[in-house]
Amino acid sequence: MSILFFSNDSSAGQVLSGLRSALPEIPIINFAGSSQEDRTAARYAVVWNPPDNFFDHTTGLKTIFSLAAGVDHLLNHPSLPRDIPLARLENAGMSDKMAEYVLYGVLHYQRAMNHYRQAQQNGHWDKTPRDRHAGDVHVGLLGIGAMGSVVAGRLLQNGYRVSGWSRRDKHIANVESFSGNDTLDIFIEQVDVLVCLLPLTKETTGIIDARRLQKLGTEGYLINAARGRHVDTAALVDALQQGVIQGALLDVTEPEPLPADHPLWSLSNVLITPHVAAPTQTQASIEQIAANIRRAENGEALTGKVTDAGY
Ligand code: NDP
Repeated sequence: MSILFFSNDSSAGQVLSGLRSALPEIPIINFAGSSQEDRTAARYAVVWNPPDNFFDHTTGLKTIFSLAAGVDHLLNHPSLPRDIPLARLENAGMSDKMAEYVLYGVLHYQRAMNHYRQAQQNGHWDKTPRDRHAGDVHVGLLGIGAMGSVVAGRLLQNGYRVSGWSRRDKHIANVESFSGNDTLDIFIEQVDVLVCLLPLTKETTGIIDARRLQKLGTEGYLINAARGRHVDTAALVDALQQGVIQGALLDVTEPEPLPADHPLWSLSNVLITPHVAAPTQTQASIEQIAANIRRAENGEALTGKVTDAGY
C-alpha cells in the first residue's frame, strides 16, 4: 500500500517531504520516476494539476486528495476515475490569506486608490474628497463557504456591510443571505464590490457575464479570487474599457498565465496578481491531508469530500 504524489507547484518538494514525515509508515511515491507497478500498488493519490497520464494503471486507488481547495483541476482531468472518492483542502490556513487579499481590494476601492495612482502618474495633487465610510460600502460575496465565511468576518470587523450569495441559505450574524439563481441579479444590483469566491463548476462557469457586469454598475468594483473562467473575459475587458464598471482586482484570469499582450494588462482601472491570493499553506495542508489519509485507513468519514455538485 502506498501513496502516489504529483504536484507541479514550487512547494512540491516541501509537501512531499512533509507528507513523508507525517506518514512515516506509508511509502509515498513521486509520480515522476514511478513504475507501472508503483502506480498499480498506490491506494491514495495526493495531487495538484496531475498530467494526463497520471491515472494510467492506478487500478488500486481508493481515494484522491486534492492539494488545493478547488478541484476543477481534477474534475476537468481527461481520465479522472469518477467512481473514486475525492477530497479537497478545506481552509487549511488559506482562508485568512484570502481575507487579507479581499480586504486589500475593498480598501483599494473605498479609499479611491486607483484614482490617486493615476493622479501620481500625472504628477497631479488632487485633494477632491473621494473617501467613503466603510459602513457605506456594501460588499457582496459570491460563495460563502470555507473562504467566503472567513472573508465575511474580516470585512465585518472592518466595518463594511456584507451580503453573501450561495446555493443554500446561510445564517451568519450580520451577513444578509441570498440563495439560488433567482436572487443573483438582485444581489449584484445592490452591492458596490462583488467578490467571486465560488468553486468552478458547470453552474458557475461564466456566471459573471456582460449583463451582470451592467448590473454591478458604473460605481461597482469586481474582485475575482476564485477562477478566471467564472468571468466572461471579453465582456470584462469591454466593461472596464467602456466604464460599465469602475474597476477590478483580478487574482485569476482566463487564460492563466495571462499572455504578455493581453488587453487586461494595460487597463488603468485593473490590478492583476498572479494567482497568489491564498497560496496553499504547506504545513497546514500536509497536516490536513495526513489526518484525512488516517481517517480513510481507519474506515472513518473523510473531511472535504467533494459531492456530485462538483465542490
Ligand atoms: P466551498 O466549497 O467551501 O464554498 C463554496 C461556496 O460557493 C459555498 O457557499 C457554495 O454554496 C457556493 N456555491 C457553489 N456552487 C454554487 C452555485 N451554483 N450557486 C450558488 N452558490 C454556489 O469552497 P471554498 O470557499 O473552499 O473555495 C472556493 C473557491 O475559491 C475554490 O473552489 C477555489 O476555486 C478558490 N480558491 C482560490 C484561491 C486563490 O488563491 N485564488 C485559493 C483557494 C481557493 P453552499 O454553501 O450553499 O453549498
